[in-house]
Amino acid sequence: MNKKQKKTLWRILISAAVFVGAVLAAPGLPIPALPLYLIPYLIIGWDILWKALRNILHGQIFDENFLMAIATVGAVAIGEYPEAVFVMLFYQVGELFQSVAVDRSRSSIAALMDICPEEANVERSGQVERVDPEDVAVGETILIRPGERVPIDGVILEGSSTLNTAALTGESLPRDAGPGDDVISGCVNLTGVLRVRTTKAFEDSTVSKILDLVENSTAKKARAEQFITRFARYYTPAVVLGAVALAIIPSLITGDWARWVEQALIFLVISCPCALVISVPLTFFGGVGGCSRAGILVKGSNYLEALARAEIVVFDKTGTLTQGVFNVAAIHPQDCDEAHLLELAALAESWSSHPIARSLREAWNRELDKNRVGSVAEIAGRGIRADVDDVTVYVGNDKLMADCGVAWRPCHRAGTTVHVATQGRYLGHIVISDQVKPDAREAIAGLKAAGVRKTVMLTGDAQAVGEAVGAELGLDEVHAQLLPADKVTWVETLLGEKSPKGVLAFVGDGINDAPVLSRADVGVAMGALGSDAAIEAADIVLMDDKPSKLSQAISMARKTVAIANQNIVFALAVKAVILVLGIFGKANMWAGSLADVGVMVIAVANATRALRLDKNT
Ligand code: ADP
Ligand code: MG
Repeated sequence: MNKKQKKTLWRILISAAVFVGAVLAAPGLPIPALPLYLIPYLIIGWDILWKALRNILHGQIFDENFLMAIATVGAVAIGEYPEAVFVMLFYQVGELFQSVAVDRSRSSIAALMDICPEEANVERSGQVERVDPEDVAVGETILIRPGERVPIDGVILEGSSTLNTAALTGESLPRDAGPGDDVISGCVNLTGVLRVRTTKAFEDSTVSKILDLVENSTAKKARAEQFITRFARYYTPAVVLGAVALAIIPSLITGDWARWVEQALIFLVISCPCALVISVPLTFFGGVGGCSRAGILVKGSNYLEALARAEIVVFDKTGTLTQGVFNVAAIHPQDCDEAHLLELAALAESWSSHPIARSLREAWNRELDKNRVGSVAEIAGRGIRADVDDVTVYVGNDKLMADCGVAWRPCHRAGTTVHVATQGRYLGHIVISDQVKPDAREAIAGLKAAGVRKTVMLTGDAQAVGEAVGAELGLDEVHAQLLPADKVTWVETLLGEKSPKGVLAFVGDGINDAPVLSRADVGVAMGALGSDAAIEAADIVLMDDKPSKLSQAISMARKTVAIANQNIVFALAVKAVILVLGIFGKANMWAGSLADVGVMVIAVANATRALRLDKNT
């Protein structure tokens, strides 16, 4: 509990003690009861009265402070002193409970997001200094000892170790890393000392990006939350009007003003919408937190809600369903030797981050002199055009060859064909093959089991490759040889196929598919460790490379939505029953107040379940 909460607790205890004393002593004392009850009433209620007054002056009249203030002041006015104190007391107990619960879920999200390193060991003029990670420049060398958290993204210069990425990915299996490998901030270095050259500033590093994202995720509200806000805006004035009507109309008929004014006040106490207003956002807050604990970053509760209604899931192929790590299966040069062909291709691809580029560089496996490469243009969905040694080189697929007008030789080997040509001259091709991810089959099956109606793969790769992968994984549809723009067109077609309430999710790796990620109802980026484009374009980020996380995300989303709905229905139902009882004089203020606090406590307790979802999925 924080200071403010402790203070509230003390006020509750003192006020309750004075209140009990007053109830016991009042009948025997010669003084009037009002001052006796006014003391505990003001101890516990002064801040509510003050807030209500302040809000009225600011023109925001109808909130729960107003409801509580008017109901209890009214109770005092008609001589129901104990009720007034009791209502305030219980309202504060409920508020305290709720504030503690919110803090709990905040702090457990903060703990799981406790990935932010405090210090970095930086090598400066032969000495190791401990500095704030924010003060480390790009290109400096940092030292990471075993047990320390990687403070900044970088590349290993020296040393090898095992890295625990659990805080980022939810993946408990540690990863080995050695010289030349990228390391991502937030991982914990387990075994060896690493010397790392930083490639990013602290504020652009993975850790900062993720923290920003989680902190801002509550800004985008789910429809259920928006509903509650709108609901409260109309509900409270409606209740006040109802109470006024309840006080006046029957009184005019029966002449029994005291009774009906009391009924109206009870009605006001009962109708306080606290449980709803608090528990629904708390549920989504917990759901988002539970997901991030499982390595699923959700950028807003609206996306969580949308994911729960996933009907069509569309995948990109390379890097999403397949590993995106190609092996060179064959090199077929024409008018040149194999080494020359591979070197030229690797040089042309030296700046690209496409999985194909990476594997060509790896296959060449020798130092690349990037000075030999002039201007480079990446042609999405086709390949690369680069000036190497002042000759324009084209590396890419059939479409690219058609564009630059050379006659290429088709290849009949299984795999993706990468053609290499210069202006007007065909040099040959390299056949590379990719492997499907180990959990890709399970991922598709999991989606089917979760009730996803249709799974589709869109790929820029050749028809044969696409079909082979589709058949292996059991996808419903495969569309191949697509440019990024064609993928958008397909997604639009598929959007037209879904039912009105259904949702289309697109899952991609962020390379060449940012347009589709943003066009889909929900864009999911995959294996985003290190890929800024994906973190930015997507609505949901699966931190490890596993497509099977998607069905887990869907089931967690559904549970969150279910908990929010339970709370809405439960709170409204109890409210409705007590309101009706109140109108007919069957519920007094004590019952109304207890019901209100009880509903709030149960709803909030239910909401905190959402945070622990990852434990039982
Ligand atoms: P996918 O849809 O499978 O993720 P992309 O849209 O990234 O694939 O690319 C589609 C095709 O374009 C690839 O299969 C490849 O033939 C070609 N291509 C794209 N970028 C490159 C590149 N950097 N080098 C060579 N070929 C490329
Ligand atoms: Mg791709």
